[in-house]
Amino acid sequence: MAEAILQLKNISKRFGGLQAIKDVSFDVHEGEIVGVIGPNGAGKSTIFNLITGYYRIDTGSITYYGKEIVGLTPDAICKLGIARTFQIARPFGGLTVFDNILIGLLPKCKTINEARKGVLAILERINLEPKAFSFGKDLTTLERKRLELGRALATRPKILLLDEVMTGLKPKEMDEIIELIRELKKHMSIVVVEHVMRVIMKISDRVIVLDHGQKIAEGTPVEITNNPKVISAYLGRGGNNA
Ligand code: ADP
Ligand code: MG
Repeated sequence: MAEAILQLKNISKRFGGLQAIKDVSFDVHEGEIVGVIGPNGAGKSTIFNLITGYYRIDTGSITYYGKEIVGLTPDAICKLGIARTFQIARPFGGLTVFDNILIGLLPKCKTINEARKGVLAILERINLEPKAFSFGKDLTTLERKRLELGRALATRPKILLLDEVMTGLKPKEMDEIIELIRELKKHMSIVVVEHVMRVIMKISDRVIVLDHGQKIAEGTPVEITNNPKVISAYLGRGGNNA
């Protein structure tokens, strides 16, 4: 298997009396898509917040290319090449699509022209060229999701963390984002947190299942679909996770 870029080793995080993450370990390798699923409140977003330095783990270690990143600021971690989207997409509504991406790209470029060219390349990748000069607040849900991806791409990540990017999308729109994620995979490793099982099973090389802050299973999509522990964690709670 390709080199592990990101390694989470026995990480735990407590919020007051709540053990949000308990002794979770997994790796992300070069060029793969890792899916993370689990019922609401399982700790999926918290894992992203821990990787990206928004919260600090209580115990364990998180290494990126073999170096500990725990304790670095979110900005420093982003600069190292770990980008994320937020569960609630939050592009700047008062800026154009173009400028939303330009902001992320500027620090990476030597000249404004280089940055502008970079924005155009990203707009093409996310199919948002026709909306380049629309304001963030005037976009449809699907367009906002694409912009959110574009903003993450602007930081030129080696690992992209996607937190429930499918929420609020119709099945056909989901398929479009799935295609986009597959395209991005050619250039980076991706960790996808998703509530919608179908999506995770379709795009992931490997799937991690969280329940109550613990990893209860890890395997290929087929292995996970047939895992009794996973079935009971999901089906035991009902809901519309299928
Ligand atoms: P998921 O993304 O899997 O739905 P989260 O990671 O958002 O779950 O949350 C896991 C648990 O941690 C939940 O019980 C949630 O209420 C709690 N939690 C998350 N962030 C905080 C926080 N900043 N303070 C207190 N509790 C939190
Ligand atoms: Mg979440």
